[in-house]
Amino acid sequence: MLQPKLPLPARTVFEPGMGEAPVERALEIRKGQSLIALLTGAGIHAGDAHGAARELAQVMDLRRLKVGETVTVTLAGGRAPGAAGALSGLRMKKDAHTEVGIGRLLDGSFQSFQRQRRLRHTPVAIRGDIASSLYADGVKHGAPAALMLDVFRLFSYSVDLQRDIQPGDRFELLFDRYNEADGTVADYGEIDYAALRTGGQQLRFYRFETDPGTFEYFDANGEGVRRALLATPVDSARITSSYGRRKHPILGYSRMHRGVDFGAPTGTPIRAAGDGTVVSRGWKGAYGRYIRIRHRGGYQTAYAHLSRYAKSSRQGRRVKQGQIIGYVGSSGLSTGPHLHYEVLINGRQVNPVRLKLPSGKSLKGEALERFRLHREEIDRKLRELAVGQQADAGTSAVN
Ligand SMILES: [Zn+2]
Repeated sequence: MLQPKLPLPARTVFEPGMGEAPVERALEIRKGQSLIALLTGAGIHAGDAHGAARELAQVMDLRRLKVGETVTVTLAGGRAPGAAGALSGLRMKKDAHTEVGIGRLLDGSFQSFQRQRRLRHTPVAIRGDIASSLYADGVKHGAPAALMLDVFRLFSYSVDLQRDIQPGDRFELLFDRYNEADGTVADYGEIDYAALRTGGQQLRFYRFETDPGTFEYFDANGEGVRRALLATPVDSARITSSYGRRKHPILGYSRMHRGVDFGAPTGTPIRAAGDGTVVSRGWKGAYGRYIRIRHRGGYQTAYAHLSRYAKSSRQGRRVKQGQIIGYVGSSGLSTGPHLHYEVLINGRQVNPVRLKLPSGKSLKGEALERFRLHREEIDRKLRELAVGQQADAGTSAVN
C-alpha cells in the first residue's frame, strides 16, 4: 500500500500501536561536535543521524553550529529500554529569528522545514545626556554596544564626535527589541531613529526603505545622511593633533601638519572615508605603511602609520565607504599608535574639518511623500514611548 508523502509535525509522527508517546530531548552542542556526533551520542541510529543531517543541510549550514546551542530531538516511543531510539523529528534555532528542523514522513524519509520564530518585539526609546561620550552614555542607558557603533558611524558623517560633543549634549534612539516567549532578549533590530543635540545643531535621522530591501538614513527633510567622506575614519578615536602649524613631536621644529591625527590603539580598524579606488598602498618614508584612495569630485584621502593592511585594499581595488582598509599602528616617523589622515583636493592637502561636502541623495516626489508618512509614524511612536516612560517614572516615585 502506498503511503501519502506528507510532511507531518514531529510530535504526531508516531502511530497508534507504536507504544508510548514520543519523547522530546534537548541536546546541547559541545565544542567541535558535529550534528551526527551529537545525535549518535544521544543513542540515535547512525542511519537516522546521517539521514537527518543530510536533510537539515538543505536549510542550514551545518558547519555553523554554535557551541552551547540546543537541538531538540523527538524520539519515537515504545522501544525497549536501552534500544537505539528512532528519530522522528528535530528542531533548532538557525538565528534569532528563524527555526529550522526536520520531520519524519510516513515512508521513513526526512523532510526539512524553516519557519519564523515567534518573538515578541517591542519598540525601545532611549534618551539621555552625554556625560562622557555618545558611545559610553548610550550603552549606560541600555543601548546594545553593537547598535551604538552604528549610531557612532551614522553621526560621524555630520559631526566630529570627539571635538564637537560637549557634556550636556542630548541623544535619543529608537530601535526594536525582540524577546523569547520566556522574556529573555533574543535580538535587537536596526536603529530606526537617532537624534543628537549638540552645540546649536539638532540632528535627527530616520531609517527609511528607499527600495524594497534597501534602507538608508535621512534627516527630517528627506536629505540623505551619507556624505561623500566620513568625518571620522576610525571608530571611537580621539583627535590628538589637528590640521595646521605645530611643533613636530619628533623633529622638534615648527612645521605645517597637513592632516589630522586620530589616537587609537594599535589594531583599531581604519575605514575608507568614501567610495573610491585605492591608488597607492605601500611604505612611504616618514608615513610608514600608507594607503591613498581616489574619490569622485577630485578628492583623495590618505591614511598613514598603519600596522597592517586589510586584504581588500590592494592597489587598484575599489573600496566602499566604511569598508575596513587597514589597522592603526605606529609605522614610519611616529611617536605612538595613531592614524594620520589627509584629505587632498587636486593633489594638495586641505583641512578635513573645514570641508563642506555635499550630502548624499535627497528624496523627491513619491519617495518623499512616503518618507513623510514614515517620519510621522516614528515621531508618534517616540511621543507614545515618552509618555509611557513618564508614567513608569511616576509609579516608581510613589513606591
Ligand atoms: Zn599626523
